[in-house]
Amino acid sequence: MSKRDYYDVLGVARGASAEEIKKAYRKLAIKYHPDKNPGDKKAEENFKEAAEAYDVLSNPEKKQRYDQFGHAGMGASGGAHGFSMDDIFSQFGDVFGDDGVFGSFFGGGGGRSRRSVGSNIRIKIKLTLPEMKSGVEKTVKYRRMVQAEGVKYATCKQCNGSGAVRRVQNTFLGQMATNSPCPVCSGMGKIIESKPKEANEQGLISQEIETSIRIPGGVAEGMQLSMNGKGNYGPCGGAAGDLIVLVEGIPHEELTREDNNVIYHLWLSFSQATLGDSVEVPTLDGKVRIKIDAGTQPGKMLRLKGKGFPDLNGYGTGDQLVVLNVYVPTKVNSEEKAMLEKLAESDNFKPSSKEKSFFDKLKDLF
Ligand code: ZN
Repeated sequence: MSKRDYYDVLGVARGASAEEIKKAYRKLAIKYHPDKNPGDKKAEENFKEAAEAYDVLSNPEKKQRYDQFGHAGMGASGGAHGFSMDDIFSQFGDVFGDDGVFGSFFGGGGGRSRRSVGSNIRIKIKLTLPEMKSGVEKTVKYRRMVQAEGVKYATCKQCNGSGAVRRVQNTFLGQMATNSPCPVCSGMGKIIESKPKEANEQGLISQEIETSIRIPGGVAEGMQLSMNGKGNYGPCGGAAGDLIVLVEGIPHEELTREDNNVIYHLWLSFSQATLGDSVEVPTLDGKVRIKIDAGTQPGKMLRLKGKGFPDLNGYGTGDQLVVLNVYVPTKVNSEEKAMLEKLAESDNFKPSSKEKSFFDKLKDLF
């Protein structure tokens, strides 16, 4: 049987543009798609013929050779027999890639077996506030399912290795047979023939793995980091899932976090607040000394710029807010009581109208 001219197969003129060639092929691929023509040998031949023509005419080098020498220039490699259904479906990414509906329609490639992906593994990692601020490298140990050595596979008889079974469905293109993963082999196209006895029915064994995780500065409690391919392996050599690392915080003795800011409550004695002082406060990077002004009122807040957490997206750095509280003694001896009573007579110890309004404002705030 002599081969038809590739331009005739696609129904385009010799001078057709790459775009016209692609468009013509898409039309034919849909028309003759095996999902749409189950069991129709003629359609399958047409489907392959169109795919072969497109393979040549969409490739500038092959096209030039074909234009010059015709089929004689293509050699044995251009023959339909060297062109498997898998090759055809793998073209689809290019042909239908810009049109999502077809990709999903043909299940990402019709009868092809898929590499099933293993499940994700979730672990928790506990970090201190200083670790969340500066970032840290942590080594974690966990167990995951990996392919056991010595597993032998056989082609699945249910789907003949295609990994898919046909199902007839009503769609907007009319009645179509669509593929769904084979229930026997879960879409892998192969089943386990023999395996070492320690492997499970998917040919996997549990293995402890140690991996190092680089945690960026600025992470917060509740965030999840995802590491590609560090999860469980899929059955029958399927790709591995991800390792999902959930960040948990270890409470700090003195500091708390609010967004990217650090909050510290500093307690001053009545005399410190009145007379002023210089005191040390803890920060995530160690202690710093701060100045307390004379006449500091409780509730005042000092800001230590840049002492908070870096923003994960690079939008600056938070601050440390030092909230000043004044400790009121809960018990005094008789001598102290006498001194306080004496002090209370002084106008300096009576809240002025200005200070009264300051306290009233504070009341509104809380
Ligand atoms: Zn199967």
